[in-house]
Amino acid sequence: MTVSNATLSTSTTTPVLRPPFETTLDRHGLDLRRGATDILQLNLGKLCNLTCVHCHVNAGPKRKEIITRATLDRILDWLDGTDIHTIDLTGGAPEMIPDFRHLIERLRRMPHVDTIIDRCNLTILNQPGYEWLAQFLHDHRVAIVASMPCYEPGNVNAQRGDGVFDSSIEGLQKLNALGYGRDPGLMLDLVYNPNGAFLPPPQAELEADYKTELRQHFGIEFNRLITITNMPIARYKSWLRHNGKLDDYMQLLIDSFNPATVAGLMCRNTLSIGWRGEVYDCDFNQQLDMQWTDRDDGRGLHVWDLDPDALEHRPIALGSHCFGCTAGSGSSCQGATA
Ligand code: SF4
Ligand code: SF4
Repeated sequence: MTVSNATLSTSTTTPVLRPPFETTLDRHGLDLRRGATDILQLNLGKLCNLTCVHCHVNAGPKRKEIITRATLDRILDWLDGTDIHTIDLTGGAPEMIPDFRHLIERLRRMPHVDTIIDRCNLTILNQPGYEWLAQFLHDHRVAIVASMPCYEPGNVNAQRGDGVFDSSIEGLQKLNALGYGRDPGLMLDLVYNPNGAFLPPPQAELEADYKTELRQHFGIEFNRLITITNMPIARYKSWLRHNGKLDDYMQLLIDSFNPATVAGLMCRNTLSIGWRGEVYDCDFNQQLDMQWTDRDDGRGLHVWDLDPDALEHRPIALGSHCFGCTAGSGSSCQGATA
């Protein structure tokens, strides 16, 4: 791929050409700006019961960074004055914050919120102390998006830890028994991400394989499979570097740039909020500390600083990691974008 204005990698291994993401957009005549905000994605913190290799949040059981009740209520007060209809909860394990039930109950009382998504790692459903969780999610019609990087144990355990596959299957069966993946109001989507430095296969074909395998072997039903590309940041970037694969992976993402993915990028319609209320264009920018700043005085912005009617057309903060969203069929928290 020949690209002007290329920059050199700062990696200590073989240098590779890294065209800035903006240059690539320009070359294709594409302008990336925010549209209407449909989704508020709230990252509740870094506490998690797992420590997955691909985690872009560096989450784990010892992390202390989680949202407080005061911050949560400030965000919810702001949200109340908007018409944002989808709330996407992520972490860490969102369910581990002490105020999770308070959060869901307040969201359910907001008439403009029609969809609440819990990004659930499934194993949390089987943790001692969380026996209430599956029924609570069901009772509040919370849609579940659950990580399941393979329908076979080897890959899942390698990526997420020993025993995670069996616990995930148990979690899925628990959800199915409550009607998830079967009743129209109880959506259950699974998330696939590659177990290595390669792009996801075509989403529809993989979904068909997952449905066959999980039904045949475990009697499990689900709605959609979402394929997500691993982002070259945080723990996954360290893993790539440690295994001497970082430059090759970046080059793969760059070479696989697909202009048709740009229209569906999640930074166009999603507002990403951190556990302290800070605002970002997406959860990846959040992990890279690319917080929105005030145009006049440069201070970092929190969601309660924003005028909800003045978000459209705002420029998006971009970086070389954005090639992870535009490679192949594209990648977002809602799956492939092209
Ligand atoms: S990928 Fe998800 S489940 Fe795994 S450590 Fe990160 S937040 Fe936890
Ligand atoms: S990394 Fe974030 S800002 Fe960059 S293209 Fe993806 S969603 Fe947009």
